Amino acid sequence: MTAGSDTAASTVREATAAEREELARASRSLESASPEEIIRWAVDRYGQGLTMATAFGPEGCLIIHWLASIAPTTYVFNLDTGYQFQETLDLRDRIARRYGIEVAYARPGTSVEEYERLNGGPIYRTEPDRCCGERKLAVVTRVLAGYTAWMSGIRRDQSPDRAASPIVGWDHKFGVVKVSPLANWTKAKVWDAIVRDNVPYNPLHDKGYVSIGCAPCTRAVSSGEDERAGRWSGSAKTECGLHSR
Ligand code: SF4
Repeated sequence: MTAGSDTAASTVREATAAEREELARASRSLESASPEEIIRWAVDRYGQGLTMATAFGPEGCLIIHWLASIAPTTYVFNLDTGYQFQETLDLRDRIARRYGIEVAYARPGTSVEEYERLNGGPIYRTEPDRCCGERKLAVVTRVLAGYTAWMSGIRRDQSPDRAASPIVGWDHKFGVVKVSPLANWTKAKVWDAIVRDNVPYNPLHDKGYVSIGCAPCTRAVSSGEDERAGRWSGSAKTECGLHSR
């Protein structure tokens, strides 16, 4: 364990072959379903064992919009690393006012101040993998230990890492089922739905920020740049690790 780190769960359950086959079948059959139908399927299948993680990206906001009418008591959480933009934190409150869904903050065991004091300063530039590991992955591991399935807003066309994401599948990293209702949607389709239904979104999107994570590791992108070019810009890192295998 390193300075200020959370302790990740030591054992991650692996699915049986039968479970994996059932999930693959479900995923195939949901490939042509709407996101709302997929969410409804997940709610019916997993009930209170279903949770959702969101960084308040447009996809997450849209899923919350649908959840509000399908299953508003679903536990939704945000990984509050302590480094998020104020606009992101404000969006959490706007969503609560609009939908009555209070997204819970899941936090690491140390504040940013404690973490940086223990590490002799911020490590997001020098050791971003460790920073994400300790302030994101360990936290989501802790939360998901209490659930059987989680839902996320990832899309296949966001990055090569996400290109093969099933609608429903086993998440080997966390030992739970992962449901991605927007896996086969495009960015344009997401924004069409957001505009049509007047779904709250992060105002930073109107200032050139396409994919938004922690403030020190996110920049605005120019037109023509890749959707995720503004994340960990200038380093080889492209994912925090939550959605990579
Ligand atoms: S995105 Fe940056 S600040 Fe946030 S946890 Fe990862 S390395 Fe740390």
